[in-house]
Amino acid sequence: MEFSTRIIHEDNIKDGSGAVMSPIILSTTFERGQDGISYPGGFFYSRYDNPNRHSLEQKLAKMENGAGCVSFASGLAAATVVFQSLKTGDHIVLPDDTYFSIRTILDTMFSGFGLSYTLVDMTDLDALRKAIQPNTKLVWTETPSNPLIKVTDLAAVAAIAKEHNCFTVTDNTWATPYYTKPIEFGIDIVLHSTTKYLGGHSDILGGALIFGENNQRYEFIKACQKLGGAVPSPYDCWLLCRSLTTFVARMPIHSNNAMQLAAYLEAHPKIDRVLYPGLTSHPQHEVAARQMTNGFGGMLSILVKGDRATALQLADKLQLFTHATSLGGVESLIEHRKSIEGDLSPTPDNLLRISAGIEDVKDLINDFEQALLSI
Ligand SMILES: *Cc1c(COP(=O)(O)O)cnc(C)c1O
Repeated sequence: MEFSTRIIHEDNIKDGSGAVMSPIILSTTFERGQDGISYPGGFFYSRYDNPNRHSLEQKLAKMENGAGCVSFASGLAAATVVFQSLKTGDHIVLPDDTYFSIRTILDTMFSGFGLSYTLVDMTDLDALRKAIQPNTKLVWTETPSNPLIKVTDLAAVAAIAKEHNCFTVTDNTWATPYYTKPIEFGIDIVLHSTTKYLGGHSDILGGALIFGENNQRYEFIKACQKLGGAVPSPYDCWLLCRSLTTFVARMPIHSNNAMQLAAYLEAHPKIDRVLYPGLTSHPQHEVAARQMTNGFGGMLSILVKGDRATALQLADKLQLFTHATSLGGVESLIEHRKSIEGDLSPTPDNLLRISAGIEDVKDLINDFEQALLSI
């Protein structure tokens, strides 16, 4: 069966009441068997595992064609544990426009742990080869990237990393398994901020790692989850499982809306450039067309003709697009990334990042029409 069917019908909790949908099981502790050692229900303490988290991890592993999944309280909690699985002296290659807080984690939380990293343009495979050192253990990718919407050729990066005995992580928060399943391209671990499209309604914070195989690193990371305890609550897991049932219904609307907005904005005289993988003008359009199925995602960035003030003015004049951080919800958002990332960020001053929601696209285009008239 296709995953859209399996997500609805498999891995649900049956509590004997006949309830059609899964209950939320809030209990932190579970009853032992008569021998004092066994746990007949399969669970013993909620930090280690609980029925709602178990359901969620099974569903997420299936969505990404993975062997196993470890879920966390946020996307960054998931990223932190990947870095914890490295050793002092290890080196990481990161994309030059990686999600900004990934770098901040390494610079602050890991500053005393002897990890180093090099930033490269992941669309330049020669630059990647040159950046790999004898002590490089991890090659990190994020595609499409944030906020420059660069598309990485995952199969090519995975092959180069394997030649050098590095493991690979793809932050698949933006492409989601609806458009790209990185494990199928040879990537070892998929990271999600489930806060975004998987949650889909801007009301759940969460993260997950999905593994191509349940190897030693999977075992270590699973142990970090149980012992470190940065876990999602049963309620978060239940709500996310609820969101996953409508995932394949929401996603085509996000990408159709993004595609139409991109085409409209690209033709507008007050817009300098539109960065969207579905446009033939996108520098990695061919890679995207090969790697992404079902569409090109719901995220685009625009470079407004003008400066920082012009970009901020446009964001302010829009009425349907809320000027707010984050993405992947049913509502459209727009954000001036440089303001968030700070003056050290390489993000252009005139860049606005758009998360296309699932509203009627005519209304979204009309909103831009009126806002662009007034700047
Ligand atoms: C939001 C986001 C994260 C961080 O996830 P949180 O759930 O906010 O911790 C990581 N990567 C990408 C690409 C994101 O968009």
